[in-house]
Amino acid sequence: MKILVINSGSSSLKYQLFDMETGNILAKGGCERIGAGGFITHKVPGKPDFKADIDLPSHDEALKEVFSLLIDKEKGVLQSISEIDAVGHRVAHGGERFKKSSRVDEDAIAYLESIVPINPLHGPAAIKGMKACLSLLPNTPQTATFDTSFYANFKESRYIYGLPYDCYTKDGVRRYGFHGTSHRYVSAKAAEYLKKDIKSLKMITCHLGNGSSITAVDKGVAVDTSMGFTPQEGILMGTRSGSIDPTIIPYLMKKRNLTPDQMADLLNKQSGLLGVTGVSNDSRNCEEAALAGNKRAQLALDILFDGVKRYIGAYTAEMNGLDVLVFTAGIGENSSLTREGVCKDMDYLGIKIDEEKNRNFKRGVIQDISAPDSKVKVLVIPTNEEYMIALDTQKLVK
Ligand code: ADP
Repeated sequence: MKILVINSGSSSLKYQLFDMETGNILAKGGCERIGAGGFITHKVPGKPDFKADIDLPSHDEALKEVFSLLIDKEKGVLQSISEIDAVGHRVAHGGERFKKSSRVDEDAIAYLESIVPINPLHGPAAIKGMKACLSLLPNTPQTATFDTSFYANFKESRYIYGLPYDCYTKDGVRRYGFHGTSHRYVSAKAAEYLKKDIKSLKMITCHLGNGSSITAVDKGVAVDTSMGFTPQEGILMGTRSGSIDPTIIPYLMKKRNLTPDQMADLLNKQSGLLGVTGVSNDSRNCEEAALAGNKRAQLALDILFDGVKRYIGAYTAEMNGLDVLVFTAGIGENSSLTREGVCKDMDYLGIKIDEEKNRNFKRGVIQDISAPDSKVKVLVIPTNEEYMIALDTQKLVK
């Protein structure tokens, strides 16, 4: 079975084509600057990478270009586009309706359109990608995997904010959580790696990338997560502030005479590692600057490490224990400094890492970096959201 996984952004469309018999990627790439010029990349193992500036006025046109590359005699991997057995779409927000991955049809799209007000950035892009696929591949089954679905079983006290209750009933303001596909993937992988039944494990999974979130997974079920109504809540991220005292918002808006959009921009694009350091949103640059003596770079890293620690403590308390701590995503998988900073002085909670193993880790494979006497297993697990989506699609289509 061949499954195409699509991830649509407002001006981008990324794709990966999987052979599900082997789990191998047959081709992957992406379109950027859709609607404002256009640039396409396409990679096939064993063939030269292809990159080109190309006019991409819409998601429809972008997808047509992807399809023509997939069946191109030299650059392609398929004889015909009909060899694609199913398409899986990555969708950030499934609202309250989608509690698991589901088939995409007009009714599903109509619901996703109805929740655009609570998902204004990613919603319209995902819908464009789905509509483009449905019109170009009308006879191919399509599914959607939602970042929010993993959190569908939260108890009410974990998703209702301390606001007037009608902010939830009338305006849909509640915690939804994000990155669920990644947390679901790495928690399943952790159990598999440890050869234990996931139903016997209490885990905390730390997805630390440009966007970051921490999730508590008790017996395979997500019971709490750091992101909330939007991916803004939680720990400090690349350019997002994470949680702050909410009263700072009206205070700054009045003092600096900011519009709501300008305030949102400050919180989303000018804060986080970038805002505190004034150097970069990229943790590698912040680490370099900190090592060279830049105090604000060190401060930003300390805010990040403390933030992750705080959630680990809170979630261990919520689950009444912890067996496995997982690090994943760009920073979690690659930054030994971050893992060390987070796990330092955590032996009270049973977390001890082996400094040697942490520093000399191999990239791209699962690693156990716990010290021999650590009560909690500390694992580094490369995430693979696209493959998780392909697996969900395969199950739904079968
Ligand atoms: P996104 O949320 O956009 O998917 P990623 O998961 O790709 O982000 O993570 C991007 C982050 O990972 C960046 O801050 C980058 O600096 C960081 N990162 C990648 N490689 C390393 C590394 N070797 N050391 C430290 N940080 C790294």
